[in-house]
Amino acid sequence: MEELAVVSPWDLRDDPGCAERLRRRLAGDQGRFVANPRFQIMTRLRGDISLAHSELRRPTPKDFPDPEDLFEEERAVYRAAANGYLALFGTTNARTIDVDRFKDFPEFGVQLRANPGIVVELADHSIQVRSLRAAARTPTVRINDVYALALLLHEHFAETPIELVATDLLALELDSQRLVLDDFIEPAMAWLASRLAVIRAAAQIGGLQTGVECNDCPFVWKCPAFESIRRR
Ligand code: SF4
Repeated sequence: MEELAVVSPWDLRDDPGCAERLRRRLAGDQGRFVANPRFQIMTRLRGDISLAHSELRRPTPKDFPDPEDLFEEERAVYRAAANGYLALFGTTNARTIDVDRFKDFPEFGVQLRANPGIVVELADHSIQVRSLRAAARTPTVRINDVYALALLLHEHFAETPIELVATDLLALELDSQRLVLDDFIEPAMAWLASRLAVIRAAAQIGGLQTGVECNDCPFVWKCPAFESIRRR
């Protein structure tokens, strides 16, 4: 079977960013994963939240042990984000539901990989998808997030109403939208097709675009833009 190129919602965003990074992604190159500190903090936090909700219950401060292996600044962000989670969700009983984090679209030659956030079932059996950020910015449920969610989780929750909650744990704010993913799967497929056409065209034209994106680019190790630095 033909190997599928891996794409993420980040690759499909409105501004596709560096064409060289996209060219490598679409050619099936996985590169080398770069974990920046914020990613590590959020991964730790999501793990602790999932564990806290391994049974139907409220999270408590004990569910967020001090991550002593992180640097002091990172621990401070972890503690602030954990307190934010307790402030926003600490009074609600919830149980984690495991869902897929990838979906193949052989008709488009890609596999979509995405982290939808913490998916939980509440005491009344309703479903919440908690998309968690710690950026101290007002969160918004964006249509592209809805499309990515529909592509990823349609088979789980096709006609079951879900609530997508976009959260910023440092701003202590959230935005939410009730959805039936069945209503979004067709426009989501059209969105995927059109975004793939855009990024494939950009990748074909090519070019390097250095900037903040390089910080966690999986191809920075072999990127021509940094060749002179590597030779030093
Ligand atoms: S390191 Fe920067 S310039 Fe090089 S491929 Fe990645 S994003 Fe593009």
